[in-house]
Amino acid sequence: MTTPGSQAFARRDGQLFVDDVAVEVIARDAGTPLYVYSATALAAAYDALDRAFAAVPHTICYSIKSNMNLAVVATLVRRGAGVDVTSAGELFRALRAGADPQRIVYSGVGKRDDEIDAALAAGIRMFNVESRAELRRIDAVAGQRGACAPVTFRVNPDVDPKTHPYISTGLRTSKFGIPIAEALDAYAEAKTLANIDVVGVDCHIGSQIVDLQPFSDALARVRSLVGDLRNAGHRIDWIDVGGGLGVTYAEEVPPSADEYAAAVQAQVGDLDAEIVIEPGRSIAADAGIFVTRVLYTKTNGEKHFVIVDGAMNDLIRPALYGAYQRIEPVGLSKGAVLRCDIVGAVCESGDFLAKDRSFPAVETGDLLAVRSAGAYGFSMASNYNARPRAAEVLVRGERFAVVRERESLEDLVRGESIPEDLLE
Ligand SMILES: *Cc1c(COP(=O)(O)O)cnc(C)c1O
Repeated sequence: MTTPGSQAFARRDGQLFVDDVAVEVIARDAGTPLYVYSATALAAAYDALDRAFAAVPHTICYSIKSNMNLAVVATLVRRGAGVDVTSAGELFRALRAGADPQRIVYSGVGKRDDEIDAALAAGIRMFNVESRAELRRIDAVAGQRGACAPVTFRVNPDVDPKTHPYISTGLRTSKFGIPIAEALDAYAEAKTLANIDVVGVDCHIGSQIVDLQPFSDALARVRSLVGDLRNAGHRIDWIDVGGGLGVTYAEEVPPSADEYAAAVQAQVGDLDAEIVIEPGRSIAADAGIFVTRVLYTKTNGEKHFVIVDGAMNDLIRPALYGAYQRIEPVGLSKGAVLRCDIVGAVCESGDFLAKDRSFPAVETGDLLAVRSAGAYGFSMASNYNARPRAAEVLVRGERFAVVRERESLEDLVRGESIPEDLLE
């Protein structure tokens, strides 16, 4: 299947390239473990969604949590993207990357006062409010600043997106949003608050959704709610349909951008409101790879292991969700296939990139590429086992740049101190 990212990661004479640069060349320059992103693939994925929604007023607010590198965000912002943020840190990054505050939406169940204040100061498009308690905090913080906060409620339509439970967010029992049945009461309260301006409605049901039905079911409920809210005198100028469109990690066949947009528009395209979409994974995942070098191979009993210099602290999806990520040698394949686990150096048996995978024989020094690693890869990385986080590289055509330096050992202890008077 051809996804927007797939042309950017092609083989030439057996060698894996990103755009027009050999991965081998980048790895020699920047070291491993390493994330490599294609600006071309990012732009292609963004443009495909933008074109798919061309028939209706819309804003694509890239979900920055999927890949927050400034260069990645700037690549999208320069094409017109807004940004969906879920913390003051993400807001800071979005602004630093040049995002237009009027194209920033702020989601998340746990907004602190200082975060609300920072978003008001920036002048964002809207807060996606996830509880009535949060609504009252936003009203209070806006009051102190003499501002009026534009809000939508994130409603929870109680549909099952049929994805991993950790990334299902639209069920009645989830921590996200307010139950759709309570929305009318919540909007009525919002109307009574002096520093709140209701501007729309929001819904996000989960991530890595590869079936259109859950989107359609959720938005049918949102459509009906919009009618009820307008009848009750509320202004609904913005309908935020969230993100969640899936990608192909293994054999999944997600809807295309056009199919997804058609399903969204069928439900809410004729409601005389601007549509906001918050895609993360569907823009960034296939625009990036994770590159790691083989350190050792070994056989314990019957079991073959390939030990690499990347680990769960760099790419946690396999360890956290049991997620499958396609992996391939960067260079020419050497023939014989073995069943093996591809594992990192972290001291946990959960630290693997692949389990029981048929893989061409590799040896010390070989480079491997983990595909579809542009989303929820580096952004979920940690320093566990005091491992410096990987470098990040952006490629465009024949050129590339390190857009985040590999962390140094000094970076690992930044901000720490040894208080002599507390030690003996
Ligand atoms: C994570 C998230 C998104 C993006 O989800 P993807 O599956 O990456 O498209 C969008 N909106 C909200 C509120 C989110 O939490």
